[in-house]
Amino acid sequence: MESIGSFVNIKSHNLYFNGCSACEGNCCNGAKGFAASPLILEDFEDVYKNFPILFSVNGEDLVVYVLLNDGKGHCKYYIDKKCSIYEQRTPACRLYPISPYCEHILVDTACPAVSYESGKSLCKDGIVQSDFYTKRLENFVAKRDATKVFLESIKQVEDFEYVGELLGLPLLKYIKSSDNPYIQMHLESLKHFWV
Ligand code: SF4
Ligand code: SF4
Repeated sequence: MESIGSFVNIKSHNLYFNGCSACEGNCCNGAKGFAASPLILEDFEDVYKNFPILFSVNGEDLVVYVLLNDGKGHCKYYIDKKCSIYEQRTPACRLYPISPYCEHILVDTACPAVSYESGKSLCKDGIVQSDFYTKRLENFVAKRDATKVFLESIKQVEDFEYVGELLGLPLLKYIKSSDNPYIQMHLESLKHFWV
């Protein structure tokens, strides 16, 4: 099995989806490379009650992730070969194998349910089909830019503490006093932190 992460642009491919019944939760498995997912601000509310939210760095930039597992095995909510929190799964889980990236929308062809030939239409002529479209895709670039502005506004090295790493990704906790709601959700989410 290919590791998760062979993305193609929907502008260049019409793709189909064939359901998850023949798969053992590859996209829920850190051993397949799916351990952390970048967040936009609207995601915080949807993830902080079930998953840890941690900051990290990418070059000069501060970035923020939800950690889905320890990088070695499945998400703790993957039980009896299914998602035990299906209605509360993360926005990225809802969208996968679709993933927005900058102004592009990508599909992970390593997902075994994705086909170039047959199944339920996932994307056609550069458009995600309605059954697979979620609110996360709406105005994604503007929402990503707003997230960058927020991250830039809190980017003071001394306000963060290194708390570990996940698959080589350094993980940071915010340590300054703040009543910002996103910082509050980050701090609340740390009770789920396992690394
Ligand atoms: S979305 Fe793809 S990788 Fe995830 S469980 Fe379904 S078939 Fe497997
Ligand atoms: S929340 Fe559910 S769908 Fe998402 S990684 Fe965990 S088990 Fe998989």
